[in-house]
Amino acid sequence: MLPAVKVFVTRRLPGAALDRLAAEHDVEVWPERLPPPREELVARAPELEGLLSLLTDAVDAQLIEAAPRLRAISNYAVGVDNVDVEAATARGIPVGNTPGVLTDSTADLAVALMLGITRRLCEGDAYVRRGDWETWEPELLLGRDLHAATVAIVGFGRIGRAVARRLQGFGCEILHTSRSGGVPLEELLERSDYVSLHPPLTPETKGLIDAAALRRMKPTAYLVNTARGPVVDTEALARALHAGEIAGAALDVTDPEPLPGDHPLLDAPNLLVLPHLGSATHATRERMADMAVDNLLAGLRGEPMPNQAN
Ligand code: NAP
Repeated sequence: MLPAVKVFVTRRLPGAALDRLAAEHDVEVWPERLPPPREELVARAPELEGLLSLLTDAVDAQLIEAAPRLRAISNYAVGVDNVDVEAATARGIPVGNTPGVLTDSTADLAVALMLGITRRLCEGDAYVRRGDWETWEPELLLGRDLHAATVAIVGFGRIGRAVARRLQGFGCEILHTSRSGGVPLEELLERSDYVSLHPPLTPETKGLIDAAALRRMKPTAYLVNTARGPVVDTEALARALHAGEIAGAALDVTDPEPLPGDHPLLDAPNLLVLPHLGSATHATRERMADMAVDNLLAGLRGEPMPNQAN
């Protein structure tokens, strides 16, 4: 039996995975619904040997430096943009992530967003609840078809491909782009009825969908983002929606995140926004917890993590 180490888990996780972690290590789980404030993380840093973080926790170079005993970081997400992976790697600290288990749930949600924005599900629901529904009308809340549409997949990896597979069932024409191939982004934006974003957030993809990119899209096209908020320039998107440069946007992720209830983007027309729910199913979040715990246990044992981002 290895000696118990100090492990901090920045939120309670669904399922029983954390029990497995606590059976082997000295674990503290942050008990609140909101993330631990920065000073709480920093206060634990000197003793910290293992960290299980969420995408809401900034595991930056400063925090890593303040934790001289840190030996394993396990992020409860596939994206690791909240972790300074370079700083961790420089210290020889493995960074775990949770690829694959959330692919299908996130792809499901991307399709839900496409249908939700184009078939005006939220508007329709609000219309009925307000008591505005008086009769069936030939031109009430008309949308556009997803079936047979041309759909652009930006970032043709696990999730992007899973979205494409689903849309084959809708008879869509799929165009895709990533650094390793596909249609050039400019051409893809010009030809598509839906543009669905699936790259990781990196310095290269930050602001990838800016004012110029939005202007290239058809005025009848929709933008769907289930990747990371900063891949889209928020101000440019708000302007494009107000100006009618695109037909609408459906966002699971935003910049900033969380998006305050009084944020100017929310005044834009034809916008559907969710609070980052891509992987939010019972089964997926439990699998992610298992994976994150497996990664942390391996890292603390000094073994390669089953899913390591560095
Ligand atoms: P993945 O399998 O690594 O796929 C990412 C794809 O993006 C790769 O095909 C990559 O191909 C491409 N890419 C990288 N840089 C690019 C660039 N500059 N321009 C265009 N394409 C680029 O990752 P995944 O599992 O599909 O996850 C993708 C992202 O989704 C994650 O990083 C995460 O941020 C986000 N996500 C969000 C949620 C949510 O709750 N909304 C849930 C899960 C994941 P090349 O290397 O060939 O460019």
